[in-house]
Amino acid sequence: MIRASGLVAALLSVLVSVAPGHAQSGKPGVEKLYILNCGEGVAGDISRWSPGVNEGKSMDFVDTCYLIRHAQGWFLWDTGIPDAVAAMPNGLAPADPKAIHWRRPKTLAAQLDQLQVKPSDIKAMAVSHTHPDHIGNVEMFPTSVLYVQKAEYEWPGADGAPRFKPEHPTTKLEGDRDVFGDGSITILSTPGHTPGHQSLLVKLPKTGAVVLSGDAVHFRDNWDNRRVPALNFNKEQTQASMQKIADTLTKENAQLWINHDKAQRDGLKMSPEFYD
Ligand SMILES: [Zn+2]
Repeated sequence: MIRASGLVAALLSVLVSVAPGHAQSGKPGVEKLYILNCGEGVAGDISRWSPGVNEGKSMDFVDTCYLIRHAQGWFLWDTGIPDAVAAMPNGLAPADPKAIHWRRPKTLAAQLDQLQVKPSDIKAMAVSHTHPDHIGNVEMFPTSVLYVQKAEYEWPGADGAPRFKPEHPTTKLEGDRDVFGDGSITILSTPGHTPGHQSLLVKLPKTGAVVLSGDAVHFRDNWDNRRVPALNFNKEQTQASMQKIADTLTKENAQLWINHDKAQRDGLKMSPEFYD
């Protein structure tokens, strides 16, 4: 009798530990995720991101934001190109013609409006890093708590300017963070592209686990070949972060969604469709 119940307990513990992509506690956790169009662009020369290869080759880029409905409130990952770019007839031309010429076919505000989500409904937000194509609309959400790595927050901008408005409510991180305490949304510290770059692990109820790359990698070919853009802050950190993401994909049986990869995004459902 004792042996039999011990066996049942052992079997149950195995069943619980192998259930993939589900909140452990039985709470609803993440309910759904919307992919938002936060920019479309053309890179003049993608060897900027893949040193030694793709010399002179132009490529279409996309810029992506992700809106997540959690039982405890809305969470926004990245904010994209500034909405003001939508009103610029020729978009935002870069100083360096090899860089990305961005356009904003749809504003973030209009996409939230379509979902009947007000900026003040966004309980918390995080940006992968502080490059302009990711922080363009942070101040559309002045009351949303911003999760950012301390190393990124304190990284001096041009002329030593702060990266964020000092009055914006902020939680400064030093490493990974389980945002709602149930394991369903976890910020992963993935430095290298910038000093405090971060990625996001999301566990959806039906889709399973997904890692949102930020700019830990920019497109699939660079991921497959572990290439590090020459403009990255730290090459070794970037490689270690790519390995951390690869280990997370294996451990969580997760998909990797690459923020700027147009070919991949073209195959994904865009808002108002969603993943659950
Ligand atoms: Zn970017």
